[in-house]
Amino acid sequence: MNRLSIYNPATGALITQVPADDAVSVAIKAAAARMAQPRWAAVPMAHRKDCISRFRDAIVAQLDSLAATMTAETGKPIKMSRNELNGLLGRIDFFLKEAEDAVATQTVFDEGGMTEQIQHVPLGVVANISAWNYPWFVGGNVFVPALLTGNTVLYKPSEYATMTGLAIARLLHFAGIPEDVFIALVGGAAVGEALQAQQIDGLFFTGSYATGAKITQALGPRMVKLQLELGGKDPTYVCEDADPKLAAESLADGAMYNTGQSCCSVERIYVHEKIHDAFVAAFVETVRGFKLGDPASEDTYIGAITRAPQLDVLDRQAADAKAKGATLLVGGARLPGPGNWYQPTVFSNVTHDMELMREESFGPIIGIQKVSGDIEAVHLMNDTRYGLTAGVFTPDQARAQRVLSQINAGSLYWNCCDRVSPRLPWSGYGDSGVGLTLSTYGIQTFTRPKAWHLRHV
Ligand code: NAD
Repeated sequence: MNRLSIYNPATGALITQVPADDAVSVAIKAAAARMAQPRWAAVPMAHRKDCISRFRDAIVAQLDSLAATMTAETGKPIKMSRNELNGLLGRIDFFLKEAEDAVATQTVFDEGGMTEQIQHVPLGVVANISAWNYPWFVGGNVFVPALLTGNTVLYKPSEYATMTGLAIARLLHFAGIPEDVFIALVGGAAVGEALQAQQIDGLFFTGSYATGAKITQALGPRMVKLQLELGGKDPTYVCEDADPKLAAESLADGAMYNTGQSCCSVERIYVHEKIHDAFVAAFVETVRGFKLGDPASEDTYIGAITRAPQLDVLDRQAADAKAKGATLLVGGARLPGPGNWYQPTVFSNVTHDMELMREESFGPIIGIQKVSGDIEAVHLMNDTRYGLTAGVFTPDQARAQRVLSQINAGSLYWNCCDRVSPRLPWSGYGDSGVGLTLSTYGIQTFTRPKAWHLRHV
């Protein structure tokens, strides 16, 4: 039998080995999910909601140990692991409150003996290929509404968050979701490829653009509903009327939280020339205050880099920025192992010739660029192939809305950043992806609409 080795990225130590899937076991699991789906769709919504509610209770009961597991395998600072689990509870509450109404049959016309209705039926078998950086959030955005709306789910957690993925399966089964209704698949790219080759009705992917593009090519001719939540290079513009210290503190957190490994991390900062120097000084001071260390410690803010290959990306971006004339203000290098460590790093005097300002960094590194005003800021913010989020800091709401309405991004932030709400759709422009999760649209997306034309005779 295949086995997957799971390492602690903070120490490099082997944590455990778990049985892994192969093409044969994936096919067997997919067939089981197919068989189970009509039965699950026939279960009343109230029962499906009860199961998800018990799942929520089980998370609350085991929150500390679930957080410790996530921290051990991803290097996420323990407080942030608990924050993620607590944040998930609010998302589950939203889905529990909204699912029934979101997929209730709607009568949209009823006149002269003619009735028109929209019915939402489950997609069927949903494949969920997930990322490691927020495994509970990005997984839960898919499998919670997918299960509530009557789909069976084949869930492949990232190979860097497998123990968390297996804990999710265990708790869902404990909560009453049948074992063939939610099925976890263990492994890396090969298992993901085997999953996408099965007879599935929807594939919901969270991960990098590179993998998303491969999946798109593979699924193209098959007419399977495909949703892709991919990376970003999210910009924020700080206007001259903003408080430089407040903006710097908020944006340093937005850039470095979760060791910069958030899809909506602040990845580029543009600051009006009139307050640039004050902002940069406050930003560097804030970053110097971030404590790097053992992710299991309560006071750690910067944890380990989860995937070792990302260190090469960070090294390359830092070297390229230096070579092209950027000013290194703090950090700038990896730290010696064991484990994967990179110093929180800040560059100023950056330009869009530098990879640091063009490609997703996904680590604790940021470039700050001086701009002359709104027109230049809008131009630079839109100079990207991505479009997940964008923000503006200014007390002037009208100005912020004027600027942000010109930006090609799925989520827009005024005086805030790195924020996700279950009530709002989560989506991206360009290479940040296709489709959406969250909000009531992110419930309906797990159904297909059937249009009923009913003539009463
Ligand atoms: P990744 O693309 O390396 O892996 C994602 C998943 O795809 C994993 O489960 C992996 O095993 C699987 N996979 C890899 N190759 C595959 C293949 N050929 N076929 C099928 N499956 C395959 O990404 P990652 O490192 O896990 O995640 C980091 C990326 O995810 C970043 O770019 C980040 O911005 C993005 N992300 C986006 C969002 C969002 O909501 N937009 C949220 C979280 C993370």
